[in-house]
Amino acid sequence: MNQVLVLGAGQLARMMALAGAPLNIDVIAYDVVSTNVVHPLTQQCQSLSLIEAIAAVDVITAEFELIPTDILSLCAASGKFKPHPEAIKAGGDRRIEKTLLDLAKVANAPHHIINTRTDLDAAITTLGLPMVLKTALGGYDGKGQWRLKTRDQIESVWAEMAHCIAVTNNQAIVAEKFIGFDREVSLIGVRNANGDVKTYALSENVHTDGVLSLSTAIVGDTILQQQAQQMFTAVAEQLNYIGVLALEFFEVNGALLVNEIAPRVHNSGHWTQQGAQTCQFENHLRAVCDLPLGGTALIRPSAMINILGQDSVPRAVLALESCHVHWYGKEKRAGRKMGHINVCATTPEQLQYQLMLLGQILSQQYFPTLPR
Ligand code: AMP
Repeated sequence: MNQVLVLGAGQLARMMALAGAPLNIDVIAYDVVSTNVVHPLTQQCQSLSLIEAIAAVDVITAEFELIPTDILSLCAASGKFKPHPEAIKAGGDRRIEKTLLDLAKVANAPHHIINTRTDLDAAITTLGLPMVLKTALGGYDGKGQWRLKTRDQIESVWAEMAHCIAVTNNQAIVAEKFIGFDREVSLIGVRNANGDVKTYALSENVHTDGVLSLSTAIVGDTILQQQAQQMFTAVAEQLNYIGVLALEFFEVNGALLVNEIAPRVHNSGHWTQQGAQTCQFENHLRAVCDLPLGGTALIRPSAMINILGQDSVPRAVLALESCHVHWYGKEKRAGRKMGHINVCATTPEQLQYQLMLLGQILSQQYFPTLPR
């Protein structure tokens, strides 16, 4: 029996617990908001302090990157934390992430760090307009971002950015050249302590208001897949990474640019639960527990649709043989990630048909990216 402590007690810790059970891997979670050690499925408080949990488990890992530095340091000091805390920091600070991508020599959007108004002028000169501005710390799902399209917006956008920089310790803004991408894709992969790397099929991702809506495993584009794998390996090796790592890309004329990295299991890899030989949650646990990695091959065309702000779906969804519903057991809140639906088929055409059937059952308002 392996015991794993996950920093963060959300749906990713929950799905790790579910994937770990058949391997006798017991997962407990630390809720950084309530500061309680909890059961990842029931959220029930365990009678353990964080210090006691750190001492009790074999391995510590994380389901998100915005971990308070003191907690990360405490866990790292135990020698049980995987991946390396530097990977978590790179995922949580866009400045560190950009340095990492440049060190690993992987293509990414040209950028400029902004601390002052003078820096903003320099960024406009270097990168041109339009540009995308992102907080270095604390941004996720498209939050903490501005689009600067024309010069007359400079003063109002700067006022908001200056406020952001002033109210958060060590905050800065990362300006990025606007990339007119053809589509967004991501690659989920896993690396173990021996340096073995396995990657899943690329996902094509469609976002609504900055939040992931639909991910579809890409079948057969080997050139793009090889390009992504090479970039994945370069980043994972640079970090001496252990566990599952996600790279999000912009695809422009068949070439990939890294948008961001996530040092953890990732929403765009949820389809692996039904569509891959071994799901991303199991492979993350295998890697951090130093067990052989499971196969990552795509076993059938697959896609995932997020359920946002809804705590039920019509029974007809479950009646579709190709659909698997995964709820996260969370309280309903507008826009909140409440669960997802994995859809599988025997051919890519069949998969599109199944998604269309789902689009006839689910509302356009909450599921805008389903084909209809
Ligand atoms: P991020 O939080 O960095 O993933 O950004 C959220 C979304 O904003 C991305 O999924 C893209 O759709 C868009 N985006 C981010 N950076 C850029 C960029 N440099 N150029 C164009 N669109 C971007």
